[in-house]
Amino acid sequence: MAAAVSLRNVHKVYNNACVVNDLSLTIEPGEIFGLLGPNGAGKSTTIRMLTTLAQATQGDIVVAGCDISRQPAEVRRQIGVVLQQVSIDGDLSVWENMEFHGRMHHIPNRVRQQEIDRWLSYVGLSNRKADKAKLLSGGMQRRLQIARALLHQPKILFLDEPTVGLDPQTRRRLWEIIQDLNQQQGMTMLLTTHYMEEVEYLCDRIGIMDRGQLIETGTLAELRQKHGEGIVMKQTGDRWDYDFFPTLDAANDYLDQQPDKTGMMTRASNLEDIFVELTGRNLD
Ligand code: ADP
Repeated sequence: MAAAVSLRNVHKVYNNACVVNDLSLTIEPGEIFGLLGPNGAGKSTTIRMLTTLAQATQGDIVVAGCDISRQPAEVRRQIGVVLQQVSIDGDLSVWENMEFHGRMHHIPNRVRQQEIDRWLSYVGLSNRKADKAKLLSGGMQRRLQIARALLHQPKILFLDEPTVGLDPQTRRRLWEIIQDLNQQQGMTMLLTTHYMEEVEYLCDRIGIMDRGQLIETGTLAELRQKHGEGIVMKQTGDRWDYDFFPTLDAANDYLDQQPDKTGMMTRASNLEDIFVELTGRNLD
């Protein structure tokens, strides 16, 4: 099967700075792929290029089987986009926001009304149809963005930091929606985030991005296997030193052998450990 998204040697240069540097990546149909990285890593720029909002300086991008530079309109028909900055019109009602988007996509009248009802109900906003969008909470506005992005039945959904700034309960509700769309509709998703738990909960595969480069890809299990599934931590003053071990058992064995175990502990490794190991920095 053809890839849902493919980038080959993609570069983006802004003001002589290479903010996306030689990015090559393939996302398979039906995958939830998470692009993880600290602020400024180039995640949003990557999403903007994939959704036709920014042009790559160099490289090839194919989305839903269409070359992005030659068939941008066709790409736009095939994708839904939920961007970080809330892009709904606060002075329009919830329904009007949906209606406007539906008309932009030339969805015929009868189907449009049905689809608006269907997706507003799906994200739990049926009873807010007549309210101005600006009166909705942050989480509801994000759900409206998702409903709107789904209106023209895209094959691939791009979500840029979908839960940033939301409280944990609202975040979890959005995760459920994203997971359900993937499982029930087989929708391919690419999301960016700097929340580790989001990636661990949602994503089939992870790409770690730092300073414009994709420095690692794989499933969480693959990454843990590669870098080490167990960790020995040692506290020296205010500082914690970490050592990776192939397994948690191996880390425990090592600890057992130490004559002085003061300030030492073991635990399973997580994505954050791997990120710090790769970049020498924390995500936030
Ligand atoms: P992330 O989404 O990982 O936080 P971004 O893609 O937003 O990272 O930004 C990557 C780098 O590109 C940053 O240094 C940012 O300042 C720069 N950048 C992003 N958009 C523009 C732009 N339109 N003009 C100039 N520089 C930009």
